[in-house]
Amino acid sequence: MKTDLIIRGPSIHGEAETWKGSELHIALGKIQAISAQTALAGSAEVIDFPTSYHLIPGMIDMHIHGADHADVMDASQAALTTISQALLKEGTTSFLATTMTETSDKLLKVMAEVNEFIQHGSKTGAEIIGLHLEGPFISPAKIGAQRGDALLNPNIEVFESWQKAAGNHIKLVTLAPELEGAKVFIEHLVKRGVIASIGHSNANFAEANSGISAGITHATHLYNAMSGLHHSDPGAALAILVDQRVVAELIVDGVHVHPEMIRFTLKVKGAQHVVLVTDAMRAKCCGEGEFDLGGQAVIVKNNEARLKQNGKLAGSVLKMNQALKNMLHFSHCSMQDIVAMVSGNPARALGLFDSKGSIAVGKLADLVVLDEHYQVVATLRSGKLVYSISH
Ligand SMILES: [Zn+2]
Repeated sequence: MKTDLIIRGPSIHGEAETWKGSELHIALGKIQAISAQTALAGSAEVIDFPTSYHLIPGMIDMHIHGADHADVMDASQAALTTISQALLKEGTTSFLATTMTETSDKLLKVMAEVNEFIQHGSKTGAEIIGLHLEGPFISPAKIGAQRGDALLNPNIEVFESWQKAAGNHIKLVTLAPELEGAKVFIEHLVKRGVIASIGHSNANFAEANSGISAGITHATHLYNAMSGLHHSDPGAALAILVDQRVVAELIVDGVHVHPEMIRFTLKVKGAQHVVLVTDAMRAKCCGEGEFDLGGQAVIVKNNEARLKQNGKLAGSVLKMNQALKNMLHFSHCSMQDIVAMVSGNPARALGLFDSKGSIAVGKLADLVVLDEHYQVVATLRSGKLVYSISH
């Protein structure tokens, strides 16, 4: 097959090994070969980078609300386009558009807009691979920055009305397993191929375990907005830590979870059961100031986003490449571990590992080039250069 594009120079971080001094060949939007460098390029375009740079698979953010002044809850094509463009700059090539707790009518509108975007929206930004429903099936005791007046107990009928409006694109639902009706609801999600995630939950250890037995396989921002680790009351956090059926999201901004807890979590869960997420809101990329999150005022200062009213953490302004860099710094893990946490594990959880989630022949050429400081210098989606600072 004729090669369209060759990337030459950076270390290529595959799932099990790193290739140095090799080049990556792309044709028809897919990775065709990883081979020793040759002087011959034929008619292919060649992009050269310094050998100190890194090539990793496009990152997949399973929990992101907004960026660059736009939020998924704005329920507009313009907002979704803005977010999808902004995320390329941090190396995210796929994401779950994440909703907030809101009234059913409002959520119906958001579902319809996201479905419309997936079908007909711009294909030049990061790809929306589905929706993450964060609430309203969550605990009033662990509300975090979500609205308290729109909470619901798990409800299959209501969920199905949203799933219909979303064109079956809801891929993940965050819920509190201790709520009435949760067990049947979790079993329903599993049957429908939707990931059930424990989060915003005040479950005790036994309740969390029951939820996992019913089919929970994911945990929404482990430790944040859930019953924590305590030696006499181990809570949801321990149930998640000790059960390898559950993959845990971590917000690695150094604020949401202490670096020592990050190290501890990686040791206990292993890199194959952790995914890095940003949980970012619209203030990401916008500097400091006052912003809106689901109708509540949020102050962004010193890379922290907090509710104006009570100082509670309100999402983050974290970028995926910064999460990656923090994780390397906090844990000294390998690049293979990092690639699993930012791309491979999310792709597996979402059933997309055949086409995304690692650098391998035959997969989509969703790729990111990072410099030696882990700044994004180029992002490719399906073999097309969609963001670059130097080309
Ligand atoms: Zn969130």
